[in-house]
Amino acid sequence: MSAKVWLVGAGPGDPELLTLKAVRAMGEAQVVLIDDLVNPAVLEHCPSAQVIPVGKRGGCRSTPQAFIHRLMLRYARQGKCVVRLKGGDPCIFGRGGEEAEWLAERGIEVELVNGITAGLAGATQCGISLTQRGVARGVTLVTAHTLDGSSPEWHALAKTGTTLVVYMGVSSLQQVQAGLLEGGLPATTPVAMIENASLPQQRECRSHLGAMCTDATTFQLKSPAILVIGEVAAQAVTQVLSQIA
Ligand code: SAH
Repeated sequence: MSAKVWLVGAGPGDPELLTLKAVRAMGEAQVVLIDDLVNPAVLEHCPSAQVIPVGKRGGCRSTPQAFIHRLMLRYARQGKCVVRLKGGDPCIFGRGGEEAEWLAERGIEVELVNGITAGLAGATQCGISLTQRGVARGVTLVTAHTLDGSSPEWHALAKTGTTLVVYMGVSSLQQVQAGLLEGGLPATTPVAMIENASLPQQRECRSHLGAMCTDATTFQLKSPAILVIGEVAAQAVTQVLSQIA
């Protein structure tokens, strides 16, 4: 076992959606830094590791990124095997790339492990096929929340013919709605708002672009949630979901 930092995607919440590689990395870990969107149930795979919560809800009130960098570096330089566990996929709105670069620049061995990102999981769990043949020619993952506070190009996104999957959109529903309507997407375009995807408390609110804000208010939509916008969002393939108790 050599000093190394694994940047691991823990998936959207359901512990059965972990990859085998994530489980192996956790099994090797001596130190685990865990984000707040990670389901703590996955920690059963690293019973002997020191676990450090580094998320807002983990009691640290949004641990500054620089501090997380230094923590990973410190433990790696002590020769420890470190796992940085992130919700979903580490490289989808997860700063995995930034952290990998920062560590690699300091000579630390890094390995990235994919996780199932919330947008893809949420859609599938609700029976939505994001790239249904003949309905959507692709899928666009986009965040409503940018580092510099600027808005995504909703007008342009309205014209892509792809299903839009919006992350971090709960507090920006009005901007999303207004931008896409102004961009020419019809008010009747189906929208699915999926909260706590893949967890037992998963909830979904089906609506359409013209009504999504009022429907979300009535539904009391809360973060974490993803929005699926496009014709496929009307789909709901009936399925029976199973989870480990
Ligand atoms: N790296 C993560 C995304 C982190 S950004 C991934 O790949 O999934 C945080 C955003 O992800 C949240 O604001 C929400 O939009 C989304 N998200 C994360 N977990 C979620 C879940 N279980 N259900 C719905 N949305 C989720």
